[in-house]
Amino acid sequence: MLVNRAYKFRMYPNEEQIELINKTIGCARLVYNIMLSKKKDNSKLSKFDMIKEIPNLYNEYPFLKEVDSCSLRCAVFDLENGLNKYYKRQGGYPRYKKKGIKDSYRTSYIKNTYKGSLYENIKLDLKERTITLPKLKEVKIRGYRNIEYINGRIINATIEHIANKYYVSICVEEEIPYVKSNTSSVIGIDMGIKSLITTSEGISYGNPNYLKKYEKKIKGLQKGLSRKIKGSKNYYKYKIKLQEAYRKLQNARRKTNEEIVSKIIKDNDIIVTEDLDIPNMIKEANKTLRKNILNSTMSDIIRRLKYKCYWLNKKLIQVNRYYASSQICSCCGHKNNKMKDIKIREYKCPKCGIEIERDLNASLNIMYEGIISYYKEKYQN
Ligand SMILES: [Zn+2]
Repeated sequence: MLVNRAYKFRMYPNEEQIELINKTIGCARLVYNIMLSKKKDNSKLSKFDMIKEIPNLYNEYPFLKEVDSCSLRCAVFDLENGLNKYYKRQGGYPRYKKKGIKDSYRTSYIKNTYKGSLYENIKLDLKERTITLPKLKEVKIRGYRNIEYINGRIINATIEHIANKYYVSICVEEEIPYVKSNTSSVIGIDMGIKSLITTSEGISYGNPNYLKKYEKKIKGLQKGLSRKIKGSKNYYKYKIKLQEAYRKLQNARRKTNEEIVSKIIKDNDIIVTEDLDIPNMIKEANKTLRKNILNSTMSDIIRRLKYKCYWLNKKLIQVNRYYASSQICSCCGHKNNKMKDIKIREYKCPKCGIEIERDLNASLNIMYEGIISYYKEKYQN
């Protein structure tokens, strides 16, 4: 089975390469913003129309010719992806890109044979620890010390500039062995504020306390940044610190979530979770930093569950988000509207008398609902 996998390396570019990377990021952002405004004027403009438009920009912006032309086309593809997400109601309408927020560019792998010799625009050499990128040539990299060779086809590379550091993510298409699964054990997962995950086995994972630590740090830095004069040396210093804090949060999250998902998937063949409302989550997220961090942590867990289940041939079932998992009694099925109040941590059933922890009750219901939809699907086919 073919899967896409990303490998992220820290890059150590020299002065000249740093200048070119920053220039390319700026050019890709410019093309993205110009095309977005054209799209706003004419919604019928297709991806191919936009790509054909790029050379017409060279007169007005001659510096666009100096950078990797593929990165400019990728900027159009990114815009198209953003628009598609919007049309599918998975995200908001794309916004203009600003310098200092997600500074990155992407470039695609191109292979050519010229006069009998192979030419590749992206080359990864893990023995020498270098990556060759269009226009930049060889850049030193670090990461994945134990891997000497990646057995797969490179699809693209994303070059990022975060907190004065440079990274490259390489997306590779890899062949992974097919795993036979006998779909016998089922687990329900409830995601919440108190514990990130509560399973139908009564186990809680990922106490969000570790997130609190980063929340506090980020909040402090945000406050500090708001007091600095925009553009001053101190402002810049705080901005870098803030980006660094976000990066550390991301790393901690990646590690924790990877562990949680691996544990859950290892012992279960059918994993049932709620189908979380992403556009709503984004709207909610603007309210507080806490919610923002929690929401992106939850979507990261779902994303990991999705691809891991796909890789390992396990079944992921997402039950309807309007299913009242926290209001229904997992023992007798009675519906208790009072449970809408998230502060009530214990489910006390007025009908059958059971007393059960709120999140555990919800995860059991999610599991039952998942089993029902699993068999429905099985009978229908
Ligand atoms: Zn009951």
